[in-house]
Amino acid sequence: MGVKLLSEELRRRCGIRLLGGAEAVGGGSINRAFKVLSEQGPLFLKLNTPSALGMFEAEAAGLEILAQAEAVRVPAVVAVGAVADAAYLILEWIVFGPKSEAAERSLGADLASQHRVTRSEFGWDRDNTIGSTPQVNAPTGDWPTFFCEHRLRYQLALAVRNGLPAATAADVERLLDKVAVLFDAYEPDASLLHGDLWGGNWGVTTDGTPVIFDPAVYYGDRETDLAMTRLFGGFGSAFYDAYAEAWPLAPGWERRVELYNLYHLLNHFNLFGAGYLASVQGALEKLLRYLP
Ligand code: ADP
Repeated sequence: MGVKLLSEELRRRCGIRLLGGAEAVGGGSINRAFKVLSEQGPLFLKLNTPSALGMFEAEAAGLEILAQAEAVRVPAVVAVGAVADAAYLILEWIVFGPKSEAAERSLGADLASQHRVTRSEFGWDRDNTIGSTPQVNAPTGDWPTFFCEHRLRYQLALAVRNGLPAATAADVERLLDKVAVLFDAYEPDASLLHGDLWGGNWGVTTDGTPVIFDPAVYYGDRETDLAMTRLFGGFGSAFYDAYAEAWPLAPGWERRVELYNLYHLLNHFNLFGAGYLASVQGALEKLLRYLP
């Protein structure tokens, strides 16, 4: 990517002067990430091919709506756009420090505040991506319908194209036929979600403030964010206790965890391949055991 092109673009569009040199940052799974220096201080730069512009625009819009919630801190958006050979997203550079129990507690309480931001319909006013997979956010009045159609069925169709065994696909269909049981007497609010809250998407500033980043924002059941925190670990009991103190969960949430995480497991199968098949099948087995 021509850093010169980006430099010129940033100067023209936002008066930011880059000082040259870009240091690669690891830890991401989709884009190339860098620390770049500017006259205004360091910045976080994500780069991808020009076709990723829509993905970055949706990420920027997600970060902005999370910032407006004034709940969990997110990096400020500096610029988003495309030059000849790359799409870019530039964010405030955050200096991360060690995670701590106190920060986990703050994150739990702040996430509950973010989830208190609700609206009447599930979805969002734009589609976005989960990883690099499209995520459909068509506004829908009914949560189980939204989750089954725009989350599970969407990933299932992709997974079938990506070689999901027919027996596993049939199990997902069986699950979808019976899933109403898990929503018996449960009508969640349409809460503002991070949408991709695994342990690699949160950090703590050097002054102890928790920060979430790399979101896949939409309005949905708050339990989906909490379910994802349990998928790969990285959140301790202080986080869950503080969340539950701020906003207790409704009965039955333990069973829905597996259902909600099936979305992310199918997405991982679609993004990263057959290494995730056993986890998809394990989750299905458990879920089908719960259901009559
Ligand atoms: P990807 O979209 O490729 O998954 P991420 O947004 O997760 O990339 O960012 C990759 C890594 O960069 C993160 O794991 C985190 O350590 C670091 N990072 C993310 N945002 C910032 C930021 N604003 N300032 C400094 N480092 C960041």
